Amino acid sequence: MANIKKGDTILMLSGKNKGKKGKVIKVNPEKMTLIVEGINVAKRHQKPMQKNPGGIIEKALPFAASKAILVCPRCGKPTRISVTKVEGKNMRSCLKCEEIMDKV
Ligand SMILES: [Zn+2]
Repeated sequence: MANIKKGDTILMLSGKNKGKKGKVIKVNPEKMTLIVEGINVAKRHQKPMQKNPGGIIEKALPFAASKAILVCPRCGKPTRISVTKVEGKNMRSCLKCEEIMDKV
């Protein structure tokens, strides 16, 4: 897993969403997939029902984590990370600006 966590911003490296950025909603470490806001969205038409007026429902679908790279919240650049131990915890740090990304 490319050390991407929920709440991170990622940049798409390949596929039809290449170059787009989005916020990670869900990570599935077992399947190595991500669900990202506004990326890989499927539109579904729903028929109107009693309590639901129907219409088009948008749902973000999971895709392979390898298609995305983490964007550093400090320098705003897509980057790989290194892991640094801070007070016994594994913290991710940016290889570009060397800032620790995770909150202590
Ligand atoms: Zn950085």
